[in-house]
Amino acid sequence: MSKITAIRGFNDILPSDAKKWRHVENILSQVLDGYGFSQIRLPLVEETQLFARGVGEATDIVEKEMFSVANHNSQNSEKGESASFTLRPEGTAGCVRAVVEHNLTRGDTPKLWYMGAMFRYERPQKGRYRQFTQLGVESFGSPSPDADSELIALTYTMWQRLGISDHVCLQLNTLGEADERLAYKTALVDYLSTHFDKLDDDSQRRLTTNPLRILDSKDEQTQAVLLGAPKLSDFLGEASRTHFNQVQSYLKALGIKFEINEKLVRGLDYYNKTVFEWVTDKLGSQATVCGGGRYDGLVGIVKGKPEQSEPAVGFAMGLERLMLLIDEVAPLKNVSDCDVFVVASEDEYLHAVVYANQLRHARPSLKVKMASATSLKSQMKKADKSGAAFTVIIGADEVAGDTVSVKDMATGEQSSQSKDAFDFKI
Ligand code: ATP
Ligand code: MG
Repeated sequence: MSKITAIRGFNDILPSDAKKWRHVENILSQVLDGYGFSQIRLPLVEETQLFARGVGEATDIVEKEMFSVANHNSQNSEKGESASFTLRPEGTAGCVRAVVEHNLTRGDTPKLWYMGAMFRYERPQKGRYRQFTQLGVESFGSPSPDADSELIALTYTMWQRLGISDHVCLQLNTLGEADERLAYKTALVDYLSTHFDKLDDDSQRRLTTNPLRILDSKDEQTQAVLLGAPKLSDFLGEASRTHFNQVQSYLKALGIKFEINEKLVRGLDYYNKTVFEWVTDKLGSQATVCGGGRYDGLVGIVKGKPEQSEPAVGFAMGLERLMLLIDEVAPLKNVSDCDVFVVASEDEYLHAVVYANQLRHARPSLKVKMASATSLKSQMKKADKSGAAFTVIIGADEVAGDTVSVKDMATGEQSSQSKDAFDFKI
């Protein structure tokens, strides 16, 4: 019988790394709290139709990256269930679905976040997996540029708290409105059609499916052709231009540097006006840690009323890439999972169990660990390795005197305290 291992692209996060993940997740959620954003918890599985409609048929995600399962029961279902379900490849479509379904924008402008697993059928490599984790943030109801810049400022604060702000660079662009983009698309397709033979295969195909994506083609010859192509910025109307300028003014006022990248179009169909990406040069070709933009059309599309525009702006951050970047440029010091280690001679072990339990109740924020009732020497070895700040030692003398001995693990000094003092300077 062969050994069973995990599927390629589906990773275990082992305890030593999980500690770092929790540390980073705590910082991220602290920043989100600090900006007054609320958590929303969403299902991992949605109707396939939601992504086909909400992400766009001609995107990498919908064309080739979805993990879908047939719903064998759809014919018998009274509720008219769809025939296909999909493991969420991204969070925005599901979040918008929930906002619409529960009427969250009625009389309110919700600012939401979620964190969790996404699934894409990709070729696994460093920074690219089939199950990965995103932090998604979506801000509904404001058409103003301050909503766009607030999200960018929020991410910048996260980089500062994580100590990586010098290693990420903000790229900014505007995609204008649908009609402006349409006029531009026509001009771009006209131009590229005259150079069709020089385009790479993907770009030739995209000329009819999603021509804007050709702008971020990695192919050199295609990029050479693009040098002479019309520019989207020449097709923007007054309102789009003003919006973009105001976003930039806010960023400047906040001291957030950016680069305008006219080729930044983002992979998904639903964006309008502002789009942005935070990129790094430390992770090879998986350079984008976080990307987002405004998507005023998506709420209407999910509602089944595409003519309606409802303002929204959001971003998604890839946490695996973020962790890789942190490891590279600002590695976390060993985050200890133990503050106080309690050991006892075998005869007094029961007293130690009771003491550790009382300590956990008295000081709930302390991490209190024990080893099994083996020899004192082997328990002490585990205490040494644990990274604890203090070791509490309980022997016959301590039990007799209602005290515990406390060893400061940094200095090696030992002192005594009453067994109900719970006095640890942590
Ligand atoms: P890429 O161009 O790298 O494929 P994308 O445009 O598909 O990225 P988005 O859909 O915008 O990415 O997702 C937002 C973020 O989620 C990315 O910037 C990245 O950090 C992360 N991400 C996307 N796909 C993966 C993946 N397969 N594995 C790990 N992280 C991912
Ligand atoms: Mg992708």
